[in-house]
Parts: sequence; structure tokens; C-alpha cells
Amino acid sequence: MNRPVRSEGVLPARHAPRQTGRQVEVRNLWKSYGRGAYVVRDVSFTLRRGEFLTLLGPSGSGKTTSLMMVAGFEAPSRGEILVDGRDIADRPPEQRNFGVVFQGYALFPHMSVLENVEFGLRMKGVSTADRRRQAIEMIDKVGLAEFTSRKPRELSGGQQQRVALARALVFEPDALLLDEPLGALDRKLRENLQAEIKDIQKRFGISILFVTHDQDEAMMMSDRIAVMADGRIVQMGSPAEVYLHPVTSFVAGFLGETNLLPGSFKGIDGSHAVIEFREGVLGRARLPADGRSRAAGAAVLVSIRPERVHLLPTNGRPHVHDGATVQGSVTGCTFLGRHARYLVQSLDQSLAVSTTEWSPDAALPLGAPVRLTWAAEDAQILGEPDAAPSSLRPARVDGQGEH
Ligand code: ADP
Ligand code: MG
Repeated sequence: MNRPVRSEGVLPARHAPRQTGRQVEVRNLWKSYGRGAYVVRDVSFTLRRGEFLTLLGPSGSGKTTSLMMVAGFEAPSRGEILVDGRDIADRPPEQRNFGVVFQGYALFPHMSVLENVEFGLRMKGVSTADRRRQAIEMIDKVGLAEFTSRKPRELSGGQQQRVALARALVFEPDALLLDEPLGALDRKLRENLQAEIKDIQKRFGISILFVTHDQDEAMMMSDRIAVMADGRIVQMGSPAEVYLHPVTSFVAGFLGETNLLPGSFKGIDGSHAVIEFREGVLGRARLPADGRSRAAGAAVLVSIRPERVHLLPTNGRPHVHDGATVQGSVTGCTFLGRHARYLVQSLDQSLAVSTTEWSPDAALPLGAPVRLTWAAEDAQILGEPDAAPSSLRPARVDGQGEH
């Protein structure tokens, strides 16, 4: 396996992978604190053996509460949690055999690295000789062999996080539960540790349930992402699926910038939907799963990523894509290094266009007339506007009828 050289150190390659991960199944989980409204609503997912599954959502969407219930620190109001098919609802946290790294779950400051990693094994009654051997082995695996006798304050933030990971991994957990474990670190360190966690996961074949509000982190690390809003999972899929084929405007917007174009559903043409956009412009879009049941004339919202909108050159032979071609005028341009971002007034709204083909001499001036085009495959019809999560709608009193 090719990995870039990293300043934070690379794990030794001699440890053979060992498949320790188990399957964790969460079924119809609900949670309200006290008599309050439900903050987790009918959450179901399966963390497969050896899978990296991320709960991604904004602050307050119920990620931590969901993870706490899996860990056993919070009791569900309703629902089941199964490990390899066995219900673990009645087991306290220490009998669930999960490794846990939470943001506020600090190392013991007065204990050395070795003592910190040994601690869980001591609580389990593992003999001194055995736990010492296992702890040293694990510290070595996370690349901290020279630091066993140091105290946490004598380590960098990244090294401390690796000790926390070693402590969670040492008793061969059925799964790792990680709640924003890198949240407090600066970007460079964060990226190094993201790579290391990924590496540990592959090496041990461990199942990881990861929580973050950072979409880039989720995209980079996950096999699958469950996007949460308002206590519910709104979409679950591979990073490419949720990014390229979001089902609601919330998912489209949370996973990056997008253009939302209102239109009306005209019918089906082969494998695409025909959409009439504003100003009577006709276009094509990907046919959604429920496409054939949509009524002609139904209002739709179409999402097109800025990097999928192409500026047509004014000279030469323009390549028009099969989604739509529209007229507009440039209202803004920002150079962002890797790409430039134009704003174009078109279809009675402002469209963002991201292009890597930009140079100072060829930049389009404000007011320049342009034509934009995109492919039908890149135009994604979203769920009906009122299918958006209620966090996008005005607040309302809720949860009372659901007890
Ligand atoms: P996230 O991790 O996605 O930010 P949380 O699971 O922490 O979300 O919180 C979900 C909702 O539950 C929030 O509205 C939060 O205020 C509420 N909440 C979390 N913990 C408690 C608690 N111990 N008591 C009451 N409400 C809580
Ligand atoms: Mg949280």
C-alpha cells in the first residue's frame, strides 16, 4: 500500500491485519431526554463488519445522542441495538466491548502513556504481566513506542489522540465509537490523524462508527455516510452517492455548494426526466427513483453542482451538454487558487459556476454575456420542497403525540 510520508509518524507495517470487527445493528432508535421532544427519531442503520460508517450532520442533529445509546451511556426511549444479532440493550457500557473515543473523554493526566493504555485491561482483571504486554504491543502499533513512560502533558495533541485510540483498541473491541475525536486539533494534525485512523481501521479490520459535522472529513474517511438532520437519517450511502445524488436540498447543501433550480416536471424522455425551468427553458435531469409516478406539471427542485456547470466559449465550436443550455451574464468572479468561481445571472436567479480553466488574461469581465451548459446526469431532482427536514422549516412544538 502506498502512503504519503507524514510528519506525525507512520505506523509500522509489520503487523498483519486481523479481522476483529463485528456487525452492529441499530433498529428504530428513538430518544427523548426527560419529557422533552424526541431528539433521535427512528434511526436505523447497520455498521457492517470492518466498515467505516459516519453519522454526519449539523450541531444538534442527534449524532452524539445516537452514539451514546450505542455505547450504553444513554438508554434509548425505544429501539434495539444488536451486535452480531444479539441484543445488548441491557448491558452496561463496560460490558458492551466497544472502544470509545469522545471529545471530552480525556486521558488520565497523572498516569503515563503505558498506565493509560493499561487501565481498561486492569479494570477487566487482566493479570499484570499480560496487560503490560498487550498495552506495549498496542502503543507500538500506534507508533508511540518511545513515549510509553511520558505523561499526557508531555505529548502533542496528535500523540494524545493516538494514546486515546490505543486505549480504545487494546482490548480488541467489537467496534470503535468515535465522536468528533479530531475536533479540537489544527488542520494539518487533523489530516494526519484522519489518515492514521483510516490506516488502523484497515489494518485491524475494525468496524468504526464515526461522528462528525465536517463534510470533508466524512467524505474522506467513510465507506458510507448517514446524513442526519433533526434526529433523523435523511440519506445513507457512499460518499459519492450522497454527494452526486442527494435526495433533498438539505443534503445537497450540507455536502457542498449547489445550485437549486425550481422547475416543473414535464414527463419522461427515454432514461431522463424532462424539466421546464424558469423562462420556459427545457432541460433534462436524472430520473429519480419515484420519477415514473410524478404527475406532469408537478413542481420540482433540481440540484446542479457549480463544478458541473460549464461555461461555453464564445468562439470555436461549443460543446453543448444534454442537460440544458442557458443564457446569462457574469455578475461576479472570485479566484480561489485551485479553481475560480463565477456568479452568473441566469434563469431569473444567480448561478454559481466553478471552473479550473481560469487565467488572469482570459477572465470574463462583469456584465459579459455567457452561455452555460450541463449534462442531464449532473442534474439531480430533489425530494419535494416540503420533504426537506423540519430544521429548514419554522420551529414547531413536536414530539407530544409520539410517546
Ligand atoms: P449532535 O451531537 O448532533 O450535535 P446531540 O445528540 O448532542 O447532537 O443533541 C441532540 C439534541 O438533544 C440537541 O437539541 C441537544 O440540545 C439535546 N440534548 C443533548 N443532550 C441532552 C441532555 N443530556 N439533556 C437534554 N437535552 C439534550
Ligand atoms: Mg455531538
